[in-house]
Amino acid sequence: MSDADVIVIGSGFGGSVVAARLAEAGFRVTLLERGPWRDTVPVRSMGIEQRTPLPRGRQLFTRLLRAVGGNRMPGGSIKLNKQGLFELFFAKGVKIACSSGVGGGSHVYSAVNIRPLAENYWEGHVDDISDASMSPHYDAVLERMGSETPMADHRIPNTSAVRFKGSEAIEPATPPPDPRIGYLLPEDPDNPQKVVDANGIERYEVDYQAGEDGFLGSPKGSKTTLDCVYLAPAMKQGLEVRDLAEVTRIAGLGSGAGYRVEFIDHHGGGERSLSAERVVVAAGTLNTLRILLRSRETGGLTGMPRLGERFGTNGDFFGYWDYNDKGVDQSIGLPTTGGVKLKGDTDSPVIGGGGLPAVDSYPLPKRLKARMKRAYMIAGLGEDNMTGRASFHKGRLRIEYDPDQSPIFARLRSTFDEISRRTGHKIYAPKTPITVHPTGGACLGRSSEDGVVDSNGEVFDNPGLYVADAAALPRAPAGPPSMTIAAWANHLATRFIARHAKR
Ligand SMILES: Cc1cc2nc3c(=O)[nH]c(=O)nc-3n(C[C@H](O)[C@H](O)[C@H](O)COP(=O)(O)OP(=O)(O)OC[C@H]3O[C@@H](n4cnc5c(N)ncnc54)[C@H](O)[C@@H]3O)c2cc1C
Repeated sequence: MSDADVIVIGSGFGGSVVAARLAEAGFRVTLLERGPWRDTVPVRSMGIEQRTPLPRGRQLFTRLLRAVGGNRMPGGSIKLNKQGLFELFFAKGVKIACSSGVGGGSHVYSAVNIRPLAENYWEGHVDDISDASMSPHYDAVLERMGSETPMADHRIPNTSAVRFKGSEAIEPATPPPDPRIGYLLPEDPDNPQKVVDANGIERYEVDYQAGEDGFLGSPKGSKTTLDCVYLAPAMKQGLEVRDLAEVTRIAGLGSGAGYRVEFIDHHGGGERSLSAERVVVAAGTLNTLRILLRSRETGGLTGMPRLGERFGTNGDFFGYWDYNDKGVDQSIGLPTTGGVKLKGDTDSPVIGGGGLPAVDSYPLPKRLKARMKRAYMIAGLGEDNMTGRASFHKGRLRIEYDPDQSPIFARLRSTFDEISRRTGHKIYAPKTPITVHPTGGACLGRSSEDGVVDSNGEVFDNPGLYVADAAALPRAPAGPPSMTIAAWANHLATRFIARHAKR
């Protein structure tokens, strides 16, 4: 007998949504996540005993990085701390950052919840998926995330409207349609309250002035993370979550017999394996591609001729804007300040930004911290042409990407230059872009000739194997992608339940 009906690999926007939905529909689901549970107020209230603190204080640097890898790295990757929050990968033409921990990217993201900005995003890829068919899946995930539309009476400090009021050069950009924020926004910003939900999960409304939240996590659970809204209720219905379980390989067991999933139990159990009739891969684009490519290279999986093709970066382009406005503490408020653009620019690319989080907790001299509170990180994004390629070479992942093949980068670079010129405050942007939104490589398609997964999310030539994360996206969403990934996962779960119904 197999160990579970379904094994889900990874607990980010793809994995948590699928695992929760399938467990709530009565399937025996085991979720394997390589990172630990994070020590936050909601996770404590779930009764999880073994938790890892977010990187703060003297452990800021030691707990920050899990692994550093790259095309040229010996062995492909060096593991620094299995409990670390981020993984960095130095590919050719792009640097990739992703996170690790139960709840995946929801701990580190800026919580901008939005539908694709690329028009007609879901049209034309396959016959039975369209913008109309996907729309209810966005509604469902936005509702479960409890995402809110920020309004004036939320009194969010440091938004671009507040920040650049009176600037001759910069103005706030009109928000894209229906932008929402995955935060518990306070009813009274001067007096943020503790909130307990129907599942007994405790959280606090966000305290703007504390400046605690952002890409280093949300200790009080003000940011809505997947562990508390998706996994906690599903665990009450039987979902098994195994943290610190790093999947290395998937091996097919022969026709219809399912798959063996091999993993390292970082709790000290060494090399282990579990089997299930069906497996959902959702380890985030970088690691989903690594697992699938390695499994094929070592004979565990077959076929997938398009695997690794159409790798993209969502046009991400980051810079450090040396605004250094005396008297402004950019670390308070929410992690993102909303969009900015050059004054009068009617065709601006999407540009946003925000301050550094939790600066008071850095183990650094006071003066340096005061300077860091005035730092402004600026980020542009837009649709890229997904011309990158991931492959497996001499036992290690290799990614090649040429930003010159996507006009969005030249556009963002020239906008950054013009902002620097007009404001007199320089934006320092690296030559090689950094992406926190890798997509594709195991794309949705009509057949194995033009994609890796079909409209059910199932891998064409490996039945019972699914891809539920950003690796399956057929196109760059052009805006923050988490809701598109979650909507894809919700669609996949809905189809799965309809085809293999239990309850
Ligand atoms: C700083 C930052 C800010 C961001 N802000 C926003 C934002 O405001 N809005 C937005 O929409 N998006 C934002 N994003 C992007 C968003 O976080 C990602 O697009 C999203 O998390 C990707 O979802 P996913 O399910 O594909 O992968 P992930 O969320 O990365 O989840 C993958 C999970 O799989 C686990 N895993 C990896 N390898 C293995 C393995 N071998 N075995 C077991 N488990 C494994 C990982 O540890 C991780 O938990 C941001 C990202 C960053 C880094």
